Amino acid sequence: MTKKIPFSFTGKKVIVFDLDGTIVRLAADWHSLFKALTYRFTEKYQEAINHKSMSAILSSIIEKGDEEELQLNFNLIRQYELEKITKNEPITETVYFINNKELFGVSHSAKLAIFSLNTRSTILKSLEIAGILDEIEFFVGREDVRNWKPEPDGLLKILDYFKVNTEEMIYFGDLEKDLLAGSNAGVESYYIDTLINHVRNIKKS
Ligand SMILES: [Mg+2]
Repeated sequence: MTKKIPFSFTGKKVIVFDLDGTIVRLAADWHSLFKALTYRFTEKYQEAINHKSMSAILSSIIEKGDEEELQLNFNLIRQYELEKITKNEPITETVYFINNKELFGVSHSAKLAIFSLNTRSTILKSLEIAGILDEIEFFVGREDVRNWKPEPDGLLKILDYFKVNTEEMIYFGDLEKDLLAGSNAGVESYYIDTLINHVRNIKKS
C-alpha cells in the first residue's frame, strides 16, 4: 500500500531543491572552513566574533560594506567546497525523482531550480557529477543573494525569474532553515525525506 504524501505536484510549475543533504551530500571540511572564515574576519578587522554560522560571518562583512572582502570569502568557501567535490555522494532517490519526474505526477513542462547556500561552481559541478545538470534550469547559490536562508531572498529570485506565483512553486530541503525560508517566501516547502520515502514507495510498487 502506498502511503499518503502531504504534497501534490498538481499545478506546480517550478520545483526547487536545496543542494547539500537534498540532492547530494558534499564532502567538504565545514569545520575547517568555518574556522578559516572566523580567523580571516578576526585578522582583517581586529575584532572578536562569536558567530554560529558562515552566513552570520558573511552578514557582518556586508554590514561593513566590504564587498571586496565578501568576494574573497566566497573564494575561500568555493575552494573548500570544490576540494573534495569528487567525494560527493549523490542521494539516489532525489536524483531518480529529477530524472523521472513525470512518474510522480509532475507536469512535463514544469521547471526545476536550485536554491542553495553553496557556491555556484559547487552547485554546477555537483549536478554535473550526478548527471542531472541538464535537468535544472535556474540556480541561486551563495553569491547570488545577500540575505541567506532562512531569509526568503533566493526563493523570491526564483519566483521572479520564472514569473510564477508562490502557489505554483514547491521547495524541498533538508534543514529547518530551508522550511523557514519557504514559509518566509510563502512557498510550500517540505523536508526532502518526505520525497525520498515517496520515491522508495513508488519504486517498490
Ligand atoms: Mg542542505
